Amino acid sequence: MTFIRKLSIGVHRCSSVVFLLLTFCNLPLRPEFGGNANVISKQKGEINFGRLANVPFKFITSSCISESNCGQNLFDSNSNTLWVTDKRNENEWVIIDFGSKRLLSGVETEFAFMSQTPYEVQVLNREVWTTIYTNAKPEKKNKDSLVGIDASTIRILFPKNSETSYTLANLRILLGETNLTGIDSRLTGFAFPIENGIMPTDDYSLPGAPRKYRNGTHKGLDIGSKTNFFGMNSAVNKETKILAAQDGIVIRSDLNYQPMTETEFKEISTYNQTHPVTFVDKDFGGRQVWIEHKAGIITSYNHLSGIQNGIAVGIKVRKGDTIGYAGNSGLLGEAKQNNEAVHLHFEIWVDGEFLGNDMTLPQIRKLLNYFFSE
Ligand SMILES: [Zn+2]
Repeated sequence: MTFIRKLSIGVHRCSSVVFLLLTFCNLPLRPEFGGNANVISKQKGEINFGRLANVPFKFITSSCISESNCGQNLFDSNSNTLWVTDKRNENEWVIIDFGSKRLLSGVETEFAFMSQTPYEVQVLNREVWTTIYTNAKPEKKNKDSLVGIDASTIRILFPKNSETSYTLANLRILLGETNLTGIDSRLTGFAFPIENGIMPTDDYSLPGAPRKYRNGTHKGLDIGSKTNFFGMNSAVNKETKILAAQDGIVIRSDLNYQPMTETEFKEISTYNQTHPVTFVDKDFGGRQVWIEHKAGIITSYNHLSGIQNGIAVGIKVRKGDTIGYAGNSGLLGEAKQNNEAVHLHFEIWVDGEFLGNDMTLPQIRKLLNYFFSE
């Protein structure tokens, strides 16, 4: 890890080694149910994505069959990710807790399959769950109108059903047409932007991670490769393909990029210990491509060693298209003409603000899981 430490002195893009497991799944594991060691009972979680979710709230689910099929999937506006309950002879439920009273006027549910048994909408009234609505014949998608109600805590109850699991894709608590429990639908369904890449396991590689320079905050993800769990490594090399995360139009492509010399790099990195960087010329982002997607969403791909032929400003790209190759442009390794710290620095911008601004790192990690769920 020596080179990583060296890097962190001079530039903003780098990695350290801290494991972070999903903090919102409250294990204990329950192997006694069906012998499945992945079954999770009473998963707790919290959504607090700042202005990227309408209202912060906490949620608890009765059970789920695995960490990847837990209650967090209910709030991601993605029909392909599911909450799947354990198959057991107990009531299943999801509780939404807003922390204080909210006006509510409806509930939207989306199941993965057609045939489902009735469910109930309940509120906590003097310590007792009181049913205020029953959907006796649910369709695949349901919009249940509630008589206007103020509630702090709401529960959707799925009665005992030992035959099958409940599989719910989305759950929304509504006030009029406003979804109180969910994220901006522009922020899901993106592909991972690097061949064979995985989400960084360390916080230091995430957007929002503190830095001692450049306004004090890292604005992107530093992505290494699957073959080394601990960050950047030789398996990401200058032939590794960088992929468009979503359909869009290229709005920046540094076809005339000029590398910094070692002297320039040192001068500029010293200056930027105390001054913010604007990414124009001679900056640590190196050779870059930017893509504009659905209204207001821009992704930025940094440190590229090369740009794919034809990727120029104004060109349309499709999700998964190769737009360039991983590299270390803008970093000391490039100035020294070696292969040090080859990786992708990837930024997501939402309405002109980087995704992750003013959010806690566990919440950013959760939002990124939504972002990259296809
Ligand atoms: Zn970075």
